[in-house]
Amino acid sequence: MIRTALFRRAAPAFWVALLLCAAPVLARAYPLPHDSPVPGGVKILKLDVQSDSMPYVEVEGHRALVVRDDSSWIAIIGIPLSAPLASRQVIVRSGDGRKELQFTIGDKQYASQSLKVAPGQVNLSKADLERVNRDKEIIEHAMSRWSDGQPETLRMPQPVPGVRSSSFGMRRIFNGESRSPHGGMDIAAPVGTPVLAPLAGMVIDTGDFFFTGNTVFVDHGRGMISMYCHLSAIDVKPGQHVAAGATLGKVGMTGRATGPHLHWGLSLNRAWVDPELFVAN
Ligand code: ZN
Repeated sequence: MIRTALFRRAAPAFWVALLLCAAPVLARAYPLPHDSPVPGGVKILKLDVQSDSMPYVEVEGHRALVVRDDSSWIAIIGIPLSAPLASRQVIVRSGDGRKELQFTIGDKQYASQSLKVAPGQVNLSKADLERVNRDKEIIEHAMSRWSDGQPETLRMPQPVPGVRSSSFGMRRIFNGESRSPHGGMDIAAPVGTPVLAPLAGMVIDTGDFFFTGNTVFVDHGRGMISMYCHLSAIDVKPGQHVAAGATLGKVGMTGRATGPHLHWGLSLNRAWVDPELFVAN
């Protein structure tokens, strides 16, 4: 009887304590993005690898993001918007040997969008074309960066508050002419709104580019690179480590932009993927 009474009195505190103890255990599962094996999406592959050292996973000649979740290794493969709807080969090298995996890329229909911009931003002058080619090299160099640290999470807040457009993947028609599809997420926000790093990382590079305007690239580890474009101000320097929530710059409309917004790009294994798959809320 005394025991029961004690237990009853202790019960609420006991359950609170149990919940507090259980919370970190429950939160231990590594947060993954949505699995969406379509062009512009990601494929999550659980790897049957026993080795404790990080397996080397390769897709289309590029090293892919691999994370450790408790006892298993998981690959998160970025799928470019230009990927054909076919099976894709993934090579896994580990202490267990070499394995080949395959997955199928399914279809996704993206809408098209007509935009009006200054004529010189669609049919480029020779000088602008040369600049765009130089920009492209810098951007591809940033995308190709690899560092070994595991990203702290693969679920993150959006870098600025505001309505997230579903413009990723849209086929874009500028002044009636078809151009490359949209490889990021646009978030409309007033000029000057701070752009916050959604995840810790290191600033790879910053610059002022023809299409993307003032831009910041951040390396979050293992081939996951983010890009913040059209900024009115850049508040970080290459080589700088940033914590989650650090201010990278301010929203603007530099480069080819029809109004103030943040263009947020996220690249895995050098493929631009839909940031929406990684948003935490
Ligand atoms: Zn954009």
